Amino acid sequence: MKITEIPCDGYEKVVRCDDEESGLKAFIGVHDTTLGPALGGLRMWPYLSDEEALTDVKRLARGMTYKSAVARTGLGGGKSVIVGNPKTDKSEALFRAMGRFVDSLGGLYITAEDVGTAVEDMVWVREETKYVTGLPREMNSSGDPSPYTARGVELGIRAAAEIALGKKDLKDVRIAVQGCGHVARFLCDMLHEDGAKLILTDIVPEKVAMVQEKTGAAAVSPEEIYDVDCDVFCPCALGAVINDDTIDRLKAKVVAGCANNVLLTEEHGDRLKERGILYAPDFVINGGGIINVSVELEPGGYNEARALEKVKNIYNAVHDIIETAEQENLASNRAAILLAQRIIAEGKKAS
Ligand code: NAD
Repeated sequence: MKITEIPCDGYEKVVRCDDEESGLKAFIGVHDTTLGPALGGLRMWPYLSDEEALTDVKRLARGMTYKSAVARTGLGGGKSVIVGNPKTDKSEALFRAMGRFVDSLGGLYITAEDVGTAVEDMVWVREETKYVTGLPREMNSSGDPSPYTARGVELGIRAAAEIALGKKDLKDVRIAVQGCGHVARFLCDMLHEDGAKLILTDIVPEKVAMVQEKTGAAAVSPEEIYDVDCDVFCPCALGAVINDDTIDRLKAKVVAGCANNVLLTEEHGDRLKERGILYAPDFVINGGGIINVSVELEPGGYNEARALEKVKNIYNAVHDIIETAEQENLASNRAAILLAQRIIAEGKKAS
């Protein structure tokens, strides 16, 4: 196994691993550990180049620093990515090699599942390192974070809809959901129960069908989702979906979903504000999963009731950030970053 450090300004540590035996090519990005060890998921994705994987791990790691700061988990921010196709390239040897790679950082970075990886993969990672969370409940761990992420997103959508649509609940609110993956499946159940009218899409038609079966929702093609007549655009697939090509097509009054790095650039947050579209900042609204995992690391160990209680804070957090942004005439994404940076600076002073 060859581990190479990649110097990156603004990051505590970025490392690359090439393991010929298992075929592992992976990156770990540790952005900031002021508030605690860097915790963030392990993504597996068929990146087209090493550069693309490196850019992604860095963006995601920084997002985790902000997410954990605002959610006050007592953790720092990091992330890891495996270059590979999760449908065809998974093996025990691959994830065990990843475990050794994580272990080589001695606890500076703690991993968990993310897009393209699952709880079962983490069990292989655990064979090689103790620095892994989100293992099955039978292993006294916090399990799949997706339902908790979904609950936080549902609360965040409710807070944003209250402000932007003047609605005290989500009854008859039209929500266009992009992606029907792990989080979105739980989220759609909750939104359906809330009485929302869902319009779905996914690049995998079977995933749309599964959610439709439970919710009776409408569906459109992946490209059409940006043009849908709706109140809330809910990005639950990958990042950078709010960009120059999509922003003027949106008919929604709110953008709020579970995806990380929803805005291609921070300027796209300014553009949403100019268009009168309320944006619930991604790392504030999607913090339910990390909150759930962080409870696992508390002295008493994992406790589901406590995790759910903490996830409820997302409702107030979204309200507070939007109010601060309005008072300071800032885009909500910028207000959220400033809040996270202030919390980290206070942590630096205290340490
Ligand atoms: P997932 O892989 O299960 O779901 C993503 C879904 O998006 C898949 O069904 C995929 O087919 C679909 N998709 C991909 N490209 C698409 C496109 N162009 N148009 C429509 N659909 C498309 O992942 P997940 O765990 O549900 O996470 C979804 C997002 O939420 C990711 O951005 C992830 O980083 C973020 N997130 C997840 C968690 C969590 O707890 N799992 C926590 C915080 C943030």
